[in-house]
Formats: sequence, structure tokens, C-alpha cells
Amino acid sequence: MDRIVGIQSILMTRRLLFLAFLGFALLLTGCSTWAARMFTRSVSRIHEPISSPPSMITQPLLPSADLAVAWVGHATALIQMHDKLVMTDPLFTSTVGIVVKRYIAPGMDPAILPKLDATLISHTHFDHFSYGSLEQLPRGGVLAVPLGALRYTPEFGFRAVYELAPWASVEDSGLTITAVPVQHFSGRYGFDGAWMRDHGYTGYVVQHKDLTVFFAGDTGYHPEYFKEIGRRFTIDLAVIPIGPGGSWEVGSRIHVHPRGALMIFQDVGADYMLPVHHKTLFYGFEEDPAQSIITLRALASELGLSDRIVDLDVGEQRIIIPSSRPVVTP
Ligand SMILES: [Zn+2]
Ligand SMILES: [Zn+2]
Repeated sequence: MDRIVGIQSILMTRRLLFLAFLGFALLLTGCSTWAARMFTRSVSRIHEPISSPPSMITQPLLPSADLAVAWVGHATALIQMHDKLVMTDPLFTSTVGIVVKRYIAPGMDPAILPKLDATLISHTHFDHFSYGSLEQLPRGGVLAVPLGALRYTPEFGFRAVYELAPWASVEDSGLTITAVPVQHFSGRYGFDGAWMRDHGYTGYVVQHKDLTVFFAGDTGYHPEYFKEIGRRFTIDLAVIPIGPGGSWEVGSRIHVHPRGALMIFQDVGADYMLPVHHKTLFYGFEEDPAQSIITLRALASELGLSDRIVDLDVGEQRIIIPSSRPVVTP
């Protein structure tokens, strides 16, 4: 009994130390408003339960799909390109950095994954580069990280780790992964953001056979980057953050709101867009964690884009291009 109380007090002390450290880091990084808001909201919700996802992904690899996508929550998407499986910014833990708690549990148990051919890490922030989540994944495939992030990458046992500068490509087992420029910031502990301002974050384009998928990571709107990505690639599906923040504005330098997300979608010229980075770890201005997707739906409808938005809830999966393989009848 005493031992349990002892362990609890150690955990409590660790949590308090972490809170003090995080508060200090926020001060050092200029206490940007969204970070301060995320911090205070998270502390106030620390004892609230995490809600169950509306659905659960049960079949990661669909025999009837050439291109399919599932939203696990936050920036975590599971993308199927023919028989390949690619995951973006895996986040399966219930808290991020001990204190930032998710609203909705992940829409997939990583234990059901038969394999992952590639895992993409967009940047070093805790909600995108989650060590505790990477440990839960199958390691047979490759891990891609942005330039500057290799020194933050523990040995997880992936078959290969590629650190990619903007526009650098790697080809591995039929997948071509290209890092593409986006506009965000990096660092992991607050103070390191000072020298990680211009690297350590990226988007990716993944190609396999006739399919091309773009993952924007975490980004603000940039008037040139996304147009250039659109010129270089013919994109079937774009996975784009729409938060934090559900306003009708473009967004800030480092984050897009729904309007900025749709501008990226139009600039890259993709056929379909999966909105991510909303609802799961909510730190927008609005009271309703669903505000980003509500605004996105309204804007998409105004722009005539609604039928190209893959509007998935946490734990939902959709076939974008059905399988062209002939159906074998017994
Ligand atoms: Zn970030
Ligand atoms: Zn983020």
C-alpha cells in the first residue's frame, strides 16, 4: 500500500515538474496564444474522461480498394495504396507530453495492423512525433523524418529510417517518398525551437504505382509552396490539417484554419482531401471542438468542393478508388 502511495507521489511530482517545465518552455517560446490555450485547457481537463470514438477501424487493408483512407484521430491517417499501408504522424497515447489529453480515443487499435510499409513523421512536436505510439506499431517498414529530426529519433527497430530535406526523395519497396516544403516550426522542448525554426518539419508526397498521396503535416498557408507541389505532382488524395481554430480566416503563420486548408487543397490540385488535425486534441479559440469541421463543411459547400472532401469522423474509413483487380470467382 505504502509502495503504491509512493509511486503515486512520484508520478504526481513528475507531472508537476513537467507542468512547470512546460510553462517555462511556453514562456521561452514567446507563449504563442494557441500553445498557452492548449496548456490551460489541458490542465483544466486532466480528470475528465476521454470519449470513445464513434467508430473503430477493423480492417486496415481492404481487398476491394486501390486507394483507401482511414482517420485514426488528430493527424493520424492510415492510407492504403494498392497493397501498401502508410501511416501519418501516429498518435495512440491518451495524453501527449503527460498533460495534453485527447478528447476522443484513437479510432484503431494498432495491434490489428498486419504491417506498415511506411510511417511518416511531419515534425518533432509531441502530438506528431509520439515515441509511445511508434513503439506500438509493426516495425517491418520504413520511418521517414524531416531534416534535423534524426537526432530526435530513438532506435525503434524500423527496417530503415530516412531523414529527408525538402524535395529529397527515397525509393523503397515500390514506394517513393518525397519530402515537400511546408510552413511550420519545430523543436520539441520549447527552447530548441529557437534553432529549429527553419527545419525539422515537412510535408510528404508518397507515390506507389499509379497513385499519389500528399500529407501536409502541420502547416500555415504559403502562397508558393503548395502551388509548386501541385506543379510537380498529380495528387489523388491530400491529407490536410484544418485546425486548430475553426474561424473563417486563412489561419496563422504556423497553422491553417479551414479556409487556409481549402486553399492548400486547391493549390496542390488534389482530387480528394481528408481533413485532419481537429477535434482530437482541441486548442482552438472556439468552445466547440467540432468547430473546424463545421466551418470546413460550410466553406467547401460555398466553393462547390463538398463532394471532394473525404469527411471522416474518428475511426471511419473510406474507399476512394475501388479495386481494379479482377474479382476471382471460385
Ligand atoms: Zn506542430
Ligand atoms: Zn499539431
